[in-house]
Amino acid sequence: MKKIAILTSGGDAPGMNACIRAAVRAALAHDLDIVGIRWGYAGLMNGDIVPLDRRSVTNIIHHGGTILGTARSEEFRTESGRMKAINVLQQKSIDGLILIGGDGTFRGGTLLSQESGISVVGVPGTIDNDCYGTDYTIGFDTAVNTAVEAIDRIRDTATAHDRLFFVEVMGRHTGFIALESGIAGGAEELLIPEVPMDSDQLCKRLAEYFKGGKKSAIVVVSEAEHPGVTFRISREVKEKAGFDSKVCILGHIQRGGAPSARDRVLASRLGAAAVKALLDNRGGYMVGEINREIAYTPLKDTWEKQNSLHPGLTDLLHILSG
Ligand code: ATP
Repeated sequence: MKKIAILTSGGDAPGMNACIRAAVRAALAHDLDIVGIRWGYAGLMNGDIVPLDRRSVTNIIHHGGTILGTARSEEFRTESGRMKAINVLQQKSIDGLILIGGDGTFRGGTLLSQESGISVVGVPGTIDNDCYGTDYTIGFDTAVNTAVEAIDRIRDTATAHDRLFFVEVMGRHTGFIALESGIAGGAEELLIPEVPMDSDQLCKRLAEYFKGGKKSAIVVVSEAEHPGVTFRISREVKEKAGFDSKVCILGHIQRGGAPSARDRVLASRLGAAAVKALLDNRGGYMVGEINREIAYTPLKDTWEKQNSLHPGLTDLLHILSG
């Protein structure tokens, strides 16, 4: 292997830059040429490729987003789109590809590899933590910290006004961000897809808190594939129990910002591990971190299997709240 490429794809996540930096410097340490593909698979199909050296990744470790840009591409889902990408890779003599993204990115990369024979290695970069094969994805820790900071601020207002607040966080179909930010933010209740609770149950619990002397409360809600779902929940709680509430949707502020130290360390480690994986003929795998060790997971498992919430954490929230 002489020349490799790296791209970021899907949603951006804080720590992607730290990962690019680590991959570039690890590649150079192993005497590999490395280039960056801009705008994910869309840029790959268009040949939007830039050389990378030590200096091109200077002073990026602390920045959110991705210096390479990211995109979602419908064309890449088609065989003809991927043929364009394969032609570019062959023209540029690229024999290994590092993909920083989520399961969609890995699906696309797997097809590309099967159709071209080019080695691909995945690195989990998404704030949602919904990726099998790693304890944490790059960006999750920062997103949780951002959500906790927001919950802390809302707590001040909730307390000052004796109010019930609903705070909606990201996470797509999972409750990882909601669970950890809920525990760290001292939330009274949590609405996540993994532990369904209807509005009758929620009203009952809130009534118990208020009966027990609470004057304000915060319910953390996972967007669960329907961003904005919290407005409906808030209305139902008003109709059923008469509790007025305010809704705060955190939205995209959770995606940006300086990566936390934990995300920078994880990203640095996984970026270097991805280069090593290509050199060790581990194409077709995702590098992750499990129990502090680098773990290699077949890319197929990352979309066929599911990362589950830490057992006991949801119970803990209910022991601690109230
Ligand atoms: P995030 O978790 O942030 O959403 P992701 O990698 O899952 O990241 P997707 O939008 O699902 O994000 O996928 C990124 C890109 O990968 C898509 O825009 C598409 O170009 C490609 N892709 C996804 N699924 C497939 C597939 N089944 N076949 C081919 N390409 C795919």
